[in-house]
Amino acid sequence: MANDCIFCRIVAGEAPGEKVYETDAVYAFRDTNPQAPTHILIVPKKHIPRVSEVEAEDAALMGELLLAARAVAEKEGVSGGFRLVVNNGSRAGQTVYHVHLHLLAGRAFRWPPG
Ligand code: AMP
Repeated sequence: MANDCIFCRIVAGEAPGEKVYETDAVYAFRDTNPQAPTHILIVPKKHIPRVSEVEAEDAALMGELLLAARAVAEKEGVSGGFRLVVNNGSRAGQTVYHVHLHLLAGRAFRWPPG
């Protein structure tokens, strides 16, 4: 855990968060500034700042994130259509440096993304 990381603090129960799903290795909670009717963040409990710092030893954990996305989508009733977004670095819009999937659903999405 990184004490200065808001997502680590949410996972640890030290900061407020609306939990949606949890496993031994993964935690999911609602985004406080939702960009779609359903907007959930799925994070590894392990503190990894961004995808460009993921190591080979994290391969199974990254797979668990996708499985968690599937489970969250089913739980939220949006399996038929959802978008996963991962921002890496400030040029891509990353603002919180703890790896996370955005699971977005409940409206139409355009391609290419902005
Ligand atoms: P990103 O810009 O990809 O790093 O995404 C960070 C996301 O975290 C944004 O969508 C924020 O709205 C969201 N966020 C920031 N702080 C919190 C928080 N305390 N609880 C829930 N979501 C948060």
